[in-house]
Amino acid sequence: MRTVSTIAAVVTAAIVSAGLAAAPATAAPGQGPRGPHDPIPAGAKAHIDDDGLTIVTSSGDGGGSIAFYRARPGGAGGLGVLRSLQAKGIVSNSLSVTSESAGVTAGAAPPSGGMNPTECGSGYGVAKFWATSSSCVTKVRWAWNGFADPQIYFRDHTPSAWPVKAAVTTWNQAIGVDSYWTGGSCPGGGRHCVEVWNAWYDTDWLGYTYVQYGSNGYFIDGTVAVFLNDNNLEGYNRMTTCHELGHALGLGHNSSYSSPSCLWDSASGGNYQTPSPNDFSTLRVVIYP
Ligand SMILES: [Zn+2]
Repeated sequence: MRTVSTIAAVVTAAIVSAGLAAAPATAAPGQGPRGPHDPIPAGAKAHIDDDGLTIVTSSGDGGGSIAFYRARPGGAGGLGVLRSLQAKGIVSNSLSVTSESAGVTAGAAPPSGGMNPTECGSGYGVAKFWATSSSCVTKVRWAWNGFADPQIYFRDHTPSAWPVKAAVTTWNQAIGVDSYWTGGSCPGGGRHCVEVWNAWYDTDWLGYTYVQYGSNGYFIDGTVAVFLNDNNLEGYNRMTTCHELGHALGLGHNSSYSSPSCLWDSASGGNYQTPSPNDFSTLRVVIYP
């Protein structure tokens, strides 16, 4: 078992070897992305379901963070991810947990019932987005910074087994937010960057996305990152990549039977490779109007 410090050292080494700064200057100290094995801070709340584990924190200034772990199909869902992280000492056993699964004591309302930040219905099928509170008014999203659409650069640090470029191309079909793939540096000038990493992490989840946002709901540059698990099931790479990149754009889960999505929120629900039209509508009309 790797220790947290070992993981940190590996990530640091990877950053140094890529010739990159540890985090853009816009991220304040302590605001870099929280990796999948970094300790969960006190006061966090977790929600587990078939899809996986979502951990939210609310900072004193109205901002906060969301961490998404996508469970491995055929496993024990979010509960399995939680138990795995607890066994590693990453998650406290006293963490406040709500659940849609049997056998777990509810300690707080689920994300749609007062947990801040909150996953909100978009009105397009059952596609969802995230907001800073249960009023669903202040969306968790990228700032425009003077562009007609927010500009998102996914910085791909993964090998070709991970179809990051293809998934970015698909997400760039969304009207309202522009997604770009790059293997190079962060372009700056008000453009945002999402780091996309891969490694052999755990056996319980496929992908992990971390986002941090300010009181205005805007993602904080330098804090948003996607971690793709090489300990993946063959054939799930495209779904996993599409799913995690969707979270990094501000989308929640989408469990529609009539219009299946890679953001499906049940690990047993299917291996859908692409977003649904309702995900695109949510981006265009609700999140980035
Ligand atoms: Zn998810």
